[in-house]
Amino acid sequence: MRIISQPADLPVRESASRGLVPTMGYLHEGHLELIRRAAAENEEVAVSIFVNPLQFGPGEDYRTYPRDLERDARLAESAGASWIFHPSPEVMYPPGFATTVHVGGPLTERWEGERRPGHFDGVATVVTKLFNLVRPDRAYFGEKDFQQLQVVRRFTADLNLGVEIVPVPIVREPDGLARSSRNVYLTAEERPRATVLYRALLAVREAARRGASPAEAVEAGEKVLASVPEFVPDYLAVVHPGTLEPLSSWVPGARAIVAGRFPTVRLIDNMEVWDR
Ligand code: AMP
Repeated sequence: MRIISQPADLPVRESASRGLVPTMGYLHEGHLELIRRAAAENEEVAVSIFVNPLQFGPGEDYRTYPRDLERDARLAESAGASWIFHPSPEVMYPPGFATTVHVGGPLTERWEGERRPGHFDGVATVVTKLFNLVRPDRAYFGEKDFQQLQVVRRFTADLNLGVEIVPVPIVREPDGLARSSRNVYLTAEERPRATVLYRALLAVREAARRGASPAEAVEAGEKVLASVPEFVPDYLAVVHPGTLEPLSSWVPGARAIVAGRFPTVRLIDNMEVWDR
């Protein structure tokens, strides 16, 4: 597998179509699903592996974020990647770097934006740079990071970046826990209880199907969250799938979103709870 670390070495575009899968590495089935999907829809597939310092806040896990480039290269190749772009932070942000891509408004102010100030600026800035460097026709993003997906759609349209954004459904463990590079932080005791996010989302969806209002459905989910005392919720809400505004009545594609902390790790998840 070719691993490119310098922008000057990025292959000149000769293929009919180029897909990009941006990741922070430590690849798992969720990432591999994005790569497979990209390989099915494009002649050439670039996978970027870059733990982006700009999207980590002070006190977050930038330094300890799990990394294993050799294993990632093997897995990416087996899923259909053509090459990997793995720049250093110094290459992406050389001395003098001073530009931020900022998506304004409620989309970035609530939920993850509120708990992780500056996070979406970091995401928008690095993804814009990756689009400009790799020049893909399509880029693949997981619905796992649902708010991120909407933020990426927003600046890609606003800045006329000309990249088609392709959403990919969440890949879960057999017990329902959404796959995440950070799941390795969970202790053996926490791991089975970490399904509480998924079970809360199911409870919201079941309540919705029984005729509950969004507020009543959220209450049903909160009861499930309260059954695991070592999980401290940040939020559980039912939101509009495009704007992420909280809903007081159901709309097609309504999403339940949840986030919170175990002592060792912060987890997020989401689910469509009202059919499109
Ligand atoms: P990350 O390496 O965590 O930045 O994730 C890279 C991409 O993989 C993002 O678009 C994520 O939304 C996506 N992703 C991560 N976990 C999953 C999952 N369990 N299912 C689907 N996509 C995922």
